Amino acid sequence: FNVPAPANEPVYSYAPGTKERELLQDAVAEARSVEIDIPMYIGSEEVRTDNKGKLTPPHDHQHVLGYYHKGDKSHVKAAIDAALAAKADWEALAWEQRAGIFLKAAELISTKYRYKLNAATMLGQSKNPYQAEIDSACEIVDFLRFNVAYMTEIYSQQPPANSKGVWNRVEQRPLEGFVFALTPFNFTAIAGNLPTCVAMMGNVVVWKPSNTQIYSANVLMQIFKEAGLPDGVINLIYVSGPDAGDVIFKHPDFAGIHFTGSTGVFQDIWKTIGENIHTYKTYPRIVGETGGKDFILAHPSADLNVLNTALVRGAFEFQGQKCSAASRAYIPQSLWGELKVMMEKDIKSFKIGGTEDFSNFINAVIDEKAFDKITSYIDRAKQSADAEVVIGGEYDNSKGYFIHPTVILAKTPDYETLSEELFGPVLTIYVYEDAKWNETLELVDKTSIYALTGSIISQDRYAIAQATHALRNAAGNFYINDKCTGAVVGQQPFGGARGSGTNDKAGSMINLLRWVSPRTIKETF
Ligand code: GLU
Repeated sequence: FNVPAPANEPVYSYAPGTKERELLQDAVAEARSVEIDIPMYIGSEEVRTDNKGKLTPPHDHQHVLGYYHKGDKSHVKAAIDAALAAKADWEALAWEQRAGIFLKAAELISTKYRYKLNAATMLGQSKNPYQAEIDSACEIVDFLRFNVAYMTEIYSQQPPANSKGVWNRVEQRPLEGFVFALTPFNFTAIAGNLPTCVAMMGNVVVWKPSNTQIYSANVLMQIFKEAGLPDGVINLIYVSGPDAGDVIFKHPDFAGIHFTGSTGVFQDIWKTIGENIHTYKTYPRIVGETGGKDFILAHPSADLNVLNTALVRGAFEFQGQKCSAASRAYIPQSLWGELKVMMEKDIKSFKIGGTEDFSNFINAVIDEKAFDKITSYIDRAKQSADAEVVIGGEYDNSKGYFIHPTVILAKTPDYETLSEELFGPVLTIYVYEDAKWNETLELVDKTSIYALTGSIISQDRYAIAQATHALRNAAGNFYINDKCTGAVVGQQPFGGARGSGTNDKAGSMINLLRWVSPRTIKETF
């Protein structure tokens, strides 16, 4: 089939003096100058209620970005009804027509709405311009374009063999029912990808974003509509988790969930689906990307510059709020002294503040709950005999939820921040004796309860080979001499197993195949 060959969207640097920087600054100023009113989108309706939620930038409590209309169980029901009502026409539409909508959405983001979408991510989720660029504009464009190409491959797979007088076909049907997309705050692109890649395969969707990502979700939804997405195919609602769960997981037409979020929530959802399994017409597809406690393991042969960059960027970009963020590192004794000095120098050079000032590298963490959780770990480390805060450790929530990049030195390998997910700008280092390399490899594997990303930093090819094998189940995305964040769609399909999810690689054919239910047809002549 002939679809435009996907290529990764070029990334703007927003360097001082560039035209792009000016345009993005204008978009941020414009977004700050108005208070917007955000409806839910159910079928053809923009739904407003009496119950409104306030949206403020995580870095600026005083500023109001706008209000969103909260729904309840009746809106969940209405969204499901609207999805099911749209289903027959949507699944009957030729896949090329569906593809056209998503390719147009990619084009609109690339050309017309890039700055608006980035500004929404910067203000709503407190991301700096470069992080917003790679996360919201470029990554969603990549997801849309690459997924269309994967979809095409699925529909043009080699047909089955035929014996004499027989014609066999395999038809890729959409799932029977609706799919629930439950999306996270940390990547606007993931929030956009989870409902669209499901819809692309002919399914209808109820989409509930995180409450802290509604501001940019609204921009995405408007773009999808402008691209021609028919009413009811994706329905965007803002309801509480229990209200959504109560209606969705008890509905006979519930056909699957596409989830990115915490491990605990995913496990609860899985249990609820299990408890209601007799209710459904079909076994629901359960696809989730959950937590991470991602590691960087340095071998004594590591290049210190490579190691330092992998650590400071991997741990602190977007305040460490990536599932892929480096949150624990295993460093040989022989490198630690020099490495600490290098890290300290880099970390002290990071400017901290709101996203409106483009020179700030570190912005705020997402909300009060995150701030309280992360700072409680920092406080305990300050008190503990088993840990020492060696860099950072300061925080202040008077203007916004600011936490300085913090490095904790753990004196025992089972210290809490070496295994628990904080989801913030905190890196925990465990220093091992150089002679204990083999034991350290075992330790890293054994403590990888999550298994999303991990890096080996080494110049010794035997050590690289050994780590690649020994840690084969400890990370779904494994990096050699690089940081463990920043997977690019089409280049490093993303996802992990163990406590990190079902490993159905975001932005891949594996993922899209979860949203079809093949039918084999045998015709005998
Ligand atoms: N794909 C992103 C990365 O490689 C992480 C996505 C996430 O945080 O869920 O950094």
